[in-house]
Amino acid sequence: MYMIMEIKEKFIAAVEKFIAHLSIHPADDVIARLEEMRKHEDSYLQKTIYDSYFENLKMASELGRPCCQDTGMIQFFVKAGTGFPHLDITKEVLTEAVRRATANVPLRPNAVNFFEETNTGNNLGERSPWIDWEIISGSPEMEITLYLSGAGCSLPAQAKVFKPSDGYEAISPFVFDAVCGSGINACPPLLVGIGLGHNMENAAVLSKKALLRPLGTHHHHPKGAELEKRITDDLNNLGMGAQGLRGKRCVMGVHIESSARHTATIACAVNFSCYMLRRGVIRFKKDLSYE
Ligand code: SF4
Repeated sequence: MYMIMEIKEKFIAAVEKFIAHLSIHPADDVIARLEEMRKHEDSYLQKTIYDSYFENLKMASELGRPCCQDTGMIQFFVKAGTGFPHLDITKEVLTEAVRRATANVPLRPNAVNFFEETNTGNNLGERSPWIDWEIISGSPEMEITLYLSGAGCSLPAQAKVFKPSDGYEAISPFVFDAVCGSGINACPPLLVGIGLGHNMENAAVLSKKALLRPLGTHHHHPKGAELEKRITDDLNNLGMGAQGLRGKRCVMGVHIESSARHTATIACAVNFSCYMLRRGVIRFKKDLSYE
């Protein structure tokens, strides 16, 4: 019994530390992309905005506090190896880690019971934290991707199912409307995630998973990669920069994830991350050592 408690505590402590780290430090690839984008801007206005972003990140790191007041809804994307020995306690561990991180970091309590409209005070609630499971056959490990989903970047998300007669040409205008209509309110530069599939829910999940890919990666199909590049270039030619104000580039990138589609549907969902892209991956081995 003591042994089981010790294992659980070790697992919870690692996940809590992971949540705390990510709420304070966006991933390295994000920082590198922001630095590159600042160099590309030449106006005083844009350089000042980027400087305030970097100053904010520096102070968050020095003070050990979240880099944005909106620490988001907490989403886990779990790749669970069938040989990982702690599968049965994983949900309990993730839940407890969120409760502790909310109190200790602290994170802003964002979770509100839907019908009672009361804040739970600890970021827990019905299906919160959100956990997406994928089973990896034969693997002895567990990989957990964490995404902190702020309201500003979640609000502009949209999904639509097109008819085949609308054609693939319908995708770009839909994405542009979403970015220009409300995406610019989500603290650009943005990462735009596009999910393409057979119905609304499958496209929506894929559009979020597109945001989890490292910056600089491309869709596995040459046509998908070409579409990512075309939409990225076109969005970056709109004359918008950081915070949606006049500038040279408004997106860090466009990522597409896709699935087979129904012969009679073309589903498209678009999701956003703001410049504060807080996502990261932790991999546990059987003995709960991690990287
Ligand atoms: S859009 Fe991002 S940076 Fe802006 S307030 Fe929301 S979480 Fe923070």
